[in-house]
Amino acid sequence: MTGADDLFLICRIGLAGLCFYAAWVGWRMRRGYATRPDRRIRWLVGALLMTAIGLLHLATGVDESIRKAGSSVPVMQWVWLGVDFLVPVFFLSVTRAITERDRLEAELAAAAEHDPLTGLPNRAGFEKRALAALSGAARKGQPSVAVMLDVDHFKSVNDGWGHAAGDVVLRGVAHAAQGGVRAGDALGRFGGEEFALVLPGLSPEDALPLVDRLRHGITATVPHPGAPARALTLSAGIAAVESDELAGLERAFSRADQALYAAKAAGRNQTHIAG
Ligand code: GH3
Ligand code: MG
Ligand code: MG
Repeated sequence: MTGADDLFLICRIGLAGLCFYAAWVGWRMRRGYATRPDRRIRWLVGALLMTAIGLLHLATGVDESIRKAGSSVPVMQWVWLGVDFLVPVFFLSVTRAITERDRLEAELAAAAEHDPLTGLPNRAGFEKRALAALSGAARKGQPSVAVMLDVDHFKSVNDGWGHAAGDVVLRGVAHAAQGGVRAGDALGRFGGEEFALVLPGLSPEDALPLVDRLRHGITATVPHPGAPARALTLSAGIAAVESDELAGLERAFSRADQALYAAKAAGRNQTHIAG
């Protein structure tokens, strides 16, 4: 074997390794596209192609280096080797571009459904989760409730301590509420200082102590900027959800809103059930 032979063989083994790596990346992409059957096939073909090229270079490279030991490698062989290197490099760069595009798409989709201030689902994101929670409860023949939660006299926080302090309070309320709900509950921010909940598996009467515990938990953990002289309180309205369709959810929230209004009118810091 000459030095050039050795180098050529090492390059072909390196190329085979790169192809196997590209095949593995393609295989992982295929698994990541479990919900896109059309793309799964493409990644499978890509992974198989990379494996085939890798095997070809490995097998023929070793074979030729044994058979043609001592002969020098023609320049054109080197050129073709370089061209072959471009195949897995191109495959990997396409993979990387598609992964990046998918990541951006997922980020955009998540941003469209979340409120940037608190990180909670916004109305669109909330409705999706709420409908899923409702249909889960309906399948089990269980009732569900819609809850509207509103910070009392929030405008005075903004007016007295500034908008930034108000934002801190809203983030605190969101965080505390998130920690206070069960895994299957849906929680979202409807804009302003209003938070919405769907609690599956509960009647309004069963939900009342839960909502009160949540309100008191928020009061205990989120400091008012004017504390200790002031405490942050919340009012809530609860309504039964009659159907697991969007129209039923909207009707329930309209009634929960009326119950919230009644709680405010009755002096705030309390929960009312829609009559
Ligand atoms: P009530 O007890 O009747 O609910 O009174 P309130 O002051 O809480 O309610 P109101 O609807 O009068 O005021 C809500 C305020 O919330 C007005 C608005 O400027 C403020 N707000 C809405 N969105 C945001 C926000 O993202 N950040 C901050 N800091 N304030 C907000
Ligand atoms: Mg308010
Ligand atoms: Mg309000």
